[in-house]
This record gives sequence, C-alpha cells and structure tokens, in this order.
Amino acid sequence: MERTAGKMSKVIAICNQKGGVGKTTTAINLAVYLAQNNKKTLLIDTDPQGNATSGLGINKHNIKTSVYDLIIDEIDPAPVVIGSGIDNLSLIPSNLNLTGAEVELVGIMGREYRLKKAIASLASSYDYILIDCPPSLGLLTVNALAAANSVLIPVQCEYYALEGLGQLVNTVNLVRDNINAGLQIEGVLLTMADFRTNLTNEVIKEARNFFKEKVYDTVIPRNIRLTEAPGFGKPIALYDKNSIGAQRYEQFANELLGVKKVSHENSSPNINNSKELQKTAEGEIK
Ligand code: ATP
Ligand code: MG
Repeated sequence: MERTAGKMSKVIAICNQKGGVGKTTTAINLAVYLAQNNKKTLLIDTDPQGNATSGLGINKHNIKTSVYDLIIDEIDPAPVVIGSGIDNLSLIPSNLNLTGAEVELVGIMGREYRLKKAIASLASSYDYILIDCPPSLGLLTVNALAAANSVLIPVQCEYYALEGLGQLVNTVNLVRDNINAGLQIEGVLLTMADFRTNLTNEVIKEARNFFKEKVYDTVIPRNIRLTEAPGFGKPIALYDKNSIGAQRYEQFANELLGVKKVSHENSSPNINNSKELQKTAEGEIK
C-alpha cells in the first residue's frame, strides 16, 4: 500500500511495569493485524528479553544491529529495520545487549529523548509504530513514552491486576507534564481473561470503574494457542488463525482502528451470562 506523502505515523507504546501481563503478545499480534489491514507498521522491541523479536521468528542472537545501537550509538535507523516476513510489517529488534542501556543512558545528555530522536526519520514511512516496553518504569520505558503519541496498557485479569496501575498513570502524567505534552492514554486492554471465574469479571468491573471508557470492549481470553505461538516464532494469525485468541486480537485491532466497532451494551463481557461470555468461555478451552 502506498502511504500519503508527509503523513506521520501514530506511535503507540505498549506499557505496564508488571511482568507477564501480555504486553509482547499484544504488541506482536496487534502489529500483525494492523499490517493485515494494509497499515504500514513498525514494531520496536525495547525489551532486553527480546521476546517481540523472537516471537516474530527472528533469532535474537544473530541480529547485527538492534535498538541498542539506535539509542546508545545513534546510528542511522534505516539499516536497523528488518523485515518480519509479513507484508507491511517491519521490526526493530532487540536482544540482551540492551540490558546495559538502562545504566548507560543515565550519563547521557537528553537521555529521555534518544528513541524519539532515533526514529524521527522513520515517522513518515509508517502508519503505525508500536513499541513493546520492558516490565519496568526505567529509562527504556521513559524513552518509549517520550517517543509515543499514546500508551496502550494491557492488564491481566489476575489477582492484584490493578495494583501498580496508579504508578503507571503517574509516570504517564509526569512524562506528559515534563517531556511529551501530547501523550495520551490510548486504552486499556484486558488480557488472559477466564470468564468462568468470578475473578476475571471482578477485574473487568474494577478496570471499567477506574479507566471508564478507556477500557476496550474487546477482552482477550486466556488461550493456549496464544501461549504456544511464540515458541514457534509465529504470530497467532500464522500459528492458528481460527483460534479464539486470533479472533479476539483481530477484533481488537479493528476496534483500535475504529472499524466494525461493537457497541458496549451488546458486548460488555461483565454482563453475567451474556452470549458473548459463554462463547468466549467455550472457545477458550478448545
Ligand atoms: P514481560 O513483562 O516479561 O515482557 P509481557 O507483559 O510482555 O511479559 P507476554 O510475554 O505477552 O507478557 O505474556 C506472558 C506469557 O503469557 C507468555 O508466555 C505468553 O505467551 C502468555 N500469554 C499472553 N497472553 C496470553 C493469553 N491471552 N492466553 C494465554 N497465554 C498468554
Ligand atoms: Mg514482554
């Protein structure tokens, strides 16, 4: 797809300092479904674990240059961008080299703006740039927030799900007040829902109380195919496109794009015994 010349990309940081809440799963699969919607998309892995990199089937031990070289050595970004094997989707990879960056950044002038500067020249080449953040509120995450237009917050439907979110919102506010005035909260995505449990429904209710309409209608269920896919280096669209996990991430991408938006009344998963709930619960265990 040809992009309109001069149009800037929308940059979304996928962020939650809590580990294992579905940031990377969301980053990979949202990126893939945006790309399948003909949106030119760049996924930036800013986590030294490199899970977004390996989850797209890229061997993180073999990459020549990574986000580390962009942030620390300020090299030209173009050669760091690699193909993902999926049309319209490119990747800036990461690996363990990035572990030192957090410390190295401390002594650098303009340390919060390194990623923003690094990707500025790419902004007109993509419709969407997604940044997969590490599970911390350190300088790598601050760099992602400084470079972003908005923050997407995955929240796992688990005990203490909302704990720490106040701290995240404070960080977003601090970044907005001091280094990136335009930063918005894109939305809150509930992940790993198990609709057979009261806990999931409680978390959904609490999240909607706290974040109101910022919580997406689409809720991602716990789905074994989503757990398996990264082990094969595949996004869910290629691993099992008919799984409930794939269907929900596709629905989420559509919701984010504003297409086929489902109305809140009909799809809100906290309505007890709704058809939607039963469908999701059945699909989840397949
Ligand atoms: P980290 O904080 O370590 O970067 P994360 O927030 O990026 O973690 P993921 O890596 O996306 O979280 O997910 C954590 C684990 O849960 C992974 O093994 C992933 O495959 C699995 N997982 C994520 N979402 C789901 C889901 N909806 N259903 C089942 N498993 C999931
Ligand atoms: Mg991750």
